[in-house]
Amino acid sequence: MTKHSNSAEARDLAYHLHSFTHLDSLAEDGPLVLESGDGIYVTDNHGNRYIEGISGLWNIVVGFNEGRIAEAAFKQMQKLPAYHTFFGRTASPVVDLAERLIELAPVAIKRVYFVNSGSEANDTAIKMLWMLNTGAGRPEKRKIISRKSAYHGTTVASCSLNGKPYINCFGLPLPEVLYTDCPHYWRDGKLGESEENYAQRLADNLEALIQEEGAETIAGFIAEPVMGAGGALVPPQGYFKKIEAVLRRHDIAFIADEVVCGFGRTGSMWGSQTYNFSPDIICTSKCLTAGYFPMGAVLMSPEIDAKLMHAAEALGEFPHGFTTAGHPVGAAIALKVLELISEPGGMFDNLCQVAPHFQAGLQKFSDHPLVGEARGVGLIGALEIVADKASKTPFAEENLIGEKVVRAAQKNGLILRPIGESVIFAPPFIINEAEIDDMFERTRRVLDEIEQTVQKDNLRAAALTATAAAE
Ligand SMILES: *Cc1c(COP(=O)(O)O)cnc(C)c1O
Repeated sequence: MTKHSNSAEARDLAYHLHSFTHLDSLAEDGPLVLESGDGIYVTDNHGNRYIEGISGLWNIVVGFNEGRIAEAAFKQMQKLPAYHTFFGRTASPVVDLAERLIELAPVAIKRVYFVNSGSEANDTAIKMLWMLNTGAGRPEKRKIISRKSAYHGTTVASCSLNGKPYINCFGLPLPEVLYTDCPHYWRDGKLGESEENYAQRLADNLEALIQEEGAETIAGFIAEPVMGAGGALVPPQGYFKKIEAVLRRHDIAFIADEVVCGFGRTGSMWGSQTYNFSPDIICTSKCLTAGYFPMGAVLMSPEIDAKLMHAAEALGEFPHGFTTAGHPVGAAIALKVLELISEPGGMFDNLCQVAPHFQAGLQKFSDHPLVGEARGVGLIGALEIVADKASKTPFAEENLIGEKVVRAAQKNGLILRPIGESVIFAPPFIINEAEIDDMFERTRRVLDEIEQTVQKDNLRAAALTATAAAE
């Protein structure tokens, strides 16, 4: 990295704390400071151009210079640049957006509640369930079941839902949170067990957990249709149908965290459509404004809405709200984004057209010595890096192999993201087939480079010896 003490990089290192950033890599490589974008590309402050292989944080799906959104934002800024939704007030684009979301929703939705982020959406969903159960005279029905490896955000309740060990550093999870299995057939399916039987085993485990805790103490279950930050984990055959049946039997609300999947990522408008289940509450954020503005929304089924309204009657209100939520500029942007995504011949149609090419390209990595599993759906995918393909043995954690791949990719003009041992792909919806080929060619170059290091440093043998010693 540049050593100049007044450089953007040096000042960033001195003054700014990064989110979820590997500190040693940051100290060594310095931050990546971006200046501009065009299409699927971003350009840094030294003029290097990169393919954005993960759409920023899954969200910047319309590309990096969509003028029609800038125009919609500017127009709204001139007309009514800011407002709120407290005390019965709102701005007209917010009304339009609520109606549009209900039209687009995968199931019957009665009402929409606006927030600023995915974390706020999930926190709000939990508070809604807590309030409506309290209002129904069953305040003890408040536990929330999440899944190991899940990611639902960073506010106190949302962070508690993350099935990751790091949450312990905050003294979380909250006592109300329980975890059930993370569905990953390739890693956890038993020898000879079919995908369908694996899914059944997980549904049985969920039911056993519910019976152990008592359904009367459990308010909701939350799941991402495809686990995003868990590693782009695609559920096994039949999984959500079986999970949904268990929840219905025990009167437990199903919250779909569609923050990554909502608005097209999985090849349907919603992940719950790709996997054919009917949530009671839908949380959305990321693609809603394509990252051009902070915004999220909670969509409520008629049943949830009726129960919440009943609980609210006792107080005279829903005592919850964020100052900048239901923002008119955010709403104007969201309306434009949803138009660009959903219009005939629009970005969702493009996604559907290129997704088979993307998935086929991803599968071609199955023959690479470093790739244990190539998985994905729609325009999301992952390569799971292993030391040994046959035994699925991972590299030792201190090899930071995912981190290595991503750092090498960046040097090859490709921005990717490591999650544990996987490398994630989630390009903008506007990507074309030639760009997909380019992205995967760069990826192959990088994997071949890493393979050479692995051989030179004998990392494969080390991983196998360590695993054998542990057994
Ligand atoms: C990103 C994400 C969130 C949190 O959204 P923020 O806007 O960062 O608060 C929640 N759920 C899922 C599935 C996400 O990917």
